[in-house]
This record gives sequence, C-alpha cells and structure tokens, in this order.
Amino acid sequence: MRPAHALIDLSALRHNYHLARSLTGCRALAVVKANAYGHGALECAAALADDVDGFAVSAIEEALVLREAGHRQPIVLLEGWFEAAELELICRHELWPVVHHHGQLADLEQADLRQPLHVWLKLDSGMHRTGFSAGEYPAIWQRLQGNSKVASLTKITHFSRADEPETGRTEQQMETFLQATDGLQGPASLSNSAGVLAWPGAHGDWVRPGIMLYGSSPFGFEQPQATQLRPVMQLDSRVIAVHQIAAGEPIGYGSRFVTQRPSRIGVVAMGYADGYPRHAPDGTPVLVDGQRTCISGRVSMDMLTIDLTDLPASGLGSPVRLWGEGLDAGEVASHAGTISYQLFCNLNRVPRHYRD
Ligand SMILES: *Cc1c(COP(=O)(O)O)cnc(C)c1O
Repeated sequence: MRPAHALIDLSALRHNYHLARSLTGCRALAVVKANAYGHGALECAAALADDVDGFAVSAIEEALVLREAGHRQPIVLLEGWFEAAELELICRHELWPVVHHHGQLADLEQADLRQPLHVWLKLDSGMHRTGFSAGEYPAIWQRLQGNSKVASLTKITHFSRADEPETGRTEQQMETFLQATDGLQGPASLSNSAGVLAWPGAHGDWVRPGIMLYGSSPFGFEQPQATQLRPVMQLDSRVIAVHQIAAGEPIGYGSRFVTQRPSRIGVVAMGYADGYPRHAPDGTPVLVDGQRTCISGRVSMDMLTIDLTDLPASGLGSPVRLWGEGLDAGEVASHAGTISYQLFCNLNRVPRHYRD
C-alpha cells in the first residue's frame, strides 16, 4: 500500500485540551469544526468525551454527526443557523446556537419551539465579521432576556489579532466588550487558542480552543505557554525512489529546482492531492530518518522530491515526516505562505491512523 498516512495521537489531543483548561480555569469548548481541523471529528470527540465540557462546530451538520455518535455534551453552533427550518432540529438536539444577526433574531422570535434555547449572543467587538454592534447589543440582550424562547444567554465575541500581542487590538476589543456588556448578567466567552495562551485577562467563563487542541501554536513566534503543546498529527510517508543526478540538472515540473552540485534526489509518496501544499518552495523542511532536509523541485499531485545528498544513510524506503513531532506544522506552513490550520484542514486522501 502507498505509505502516505497521518498518525493522530489522541493522548496528545487530551493533553492539549487539559492545558487549555488548566491555563484558564474555565470551561472549555473543544472546537471540532471542519472535521476537527482535518484530524477526524468523531475520533477526536470520542477521545475527549470523558473530559470535555462541550464542543463547538460551525454548523448543524457537524453537530448532528456528534449527536448521532451519542455525545450528549453541549454543542455550540458558532454561526447559529442558516435557515429558520434548522431551529426545530436545534431544539430537538439541544444545540446551543450563536445568534449574530437580525435575521436570526426575527427567526427566533417567530419560531414555534418545543423548548427554550440556550443562546450565545454574539458581539462584534471589532473584528467586523459576525455579531451585533456594541451600540445595539444591550437592547438586543434585554429583548432576548424577556423572551420565553430563550433559556439562557451567554455573551460571546471573537478576537481578530489575539495572536499578535503587540498590536493593541485585543485590548481595544476587550474594552469594547466590557462596555457593551456592562451590567448584563451571564457567562462570557471571548478566547480562541491565542486568547487562551496569551490573554489571561480575556478568559471569561468559557474558552474556545481550536488549533491548540491539535498541538499547533497560533503564534508566529515562540510563545511560552505554547511550548507546552504536543503535536497531534504526524504526516508521514516514505522515499519511493532515489536518483543520482549531475550538477546543473532540472528536477520535476517546470524545472523549478536545478541541482547546484551532484545530488541524490529522493522521491516521496506525498503530493498536493494529499493536502501537502503545492506552494511549498525549495527549502521547505522535511525529516528523513529523523534528520532535516528539504524539498527540491515543485510538489506534484502524488509525489514530491527532496535532497538526500547530505543524508547518505537514507534512501529507498526511508521514513519521511512532512510535519508532526520534530517538525512543526507551523514552520512548514510559513514556508508555504500559509498557516498550520490550512495544512491540517486540507488533508485529503491519506488514511488517518490513531494511537492512544
Ligand atoms: C474557529 C473558531 C475558534 C477556534 O479558533 P482557534 O484559533 O483555532 O483556537 C474559536 N471561536 C470561533 C468563533 C471560531 O470560529
């Protein structure tokens, strides 16, 4: 069988979840949207089931998969519903929707619900993606508080630059949040992973760790708390061919890489159809037999090429790690001009194996 696969370490996932809880002392929603950032939502949810305070997903489709698997914890729908017809199922499955725009408010007020809903009312504290403005928020809160279709209200907002501590933006957003919610009694949820790790003043009652659960730092620099994370996904394959190539020869599509010296070039069973970024330039690191070398030549659909010249003991069949323990996905991502989130979410075709 083709050797490309992802090995998912579920004990590392639990370690990272507990780190989110111990750093904050809050209840923590495990964000398992987008198939748990490519790690397998059902497997990750099952691994966390005994410990987790709740889950967060982007939409009802993702929540129902968890309910069908028997998970009874709270599940927050981070964008609420997209059509009013979903409300009936949201009620039946006791999902906790975010309400972030006036259309949803109207849907809720007109709905005929079998039981009241736990609503997370979204404030736009400055990211300007979803949520009610600070000016209108208190009145909407009061309006929902008096509505018999609402069982409880939780304040939620989201930071746009919590991963960039020096910008001042998070302080501004926190200030806006405090002003807009002044006097509104109820639990609050502000922080994603970057907030959990770097903003102790922004933890509220519920935190929403996503990327940190999967062991990847949201920061583009070494951040002390983030060093305690353990990588969950190891993307691995093997060398399937080796060639001795003279100096001055082009490798692969478009002849992007030309050998500067007589070179041993290894071919690895991993390509962009597996989710490895096609944009990874020459020099993007890989580990072969645990040793660093790099991509040489354009990534193709099923294969990529690496320089083995300085690793004479490695060759046909040598294990290759594309990211995971020993090679941070964030470092690979930054070479490819993206973030680890996208690398994980793009994972495709490769079988996922689990260890616990
Ligand atoms: C995806 C998401 C999160 C998780 O963000 P990370 O940066 O992965 O921790 C938290 N809150 C909301 C609203 C989200 O959409």
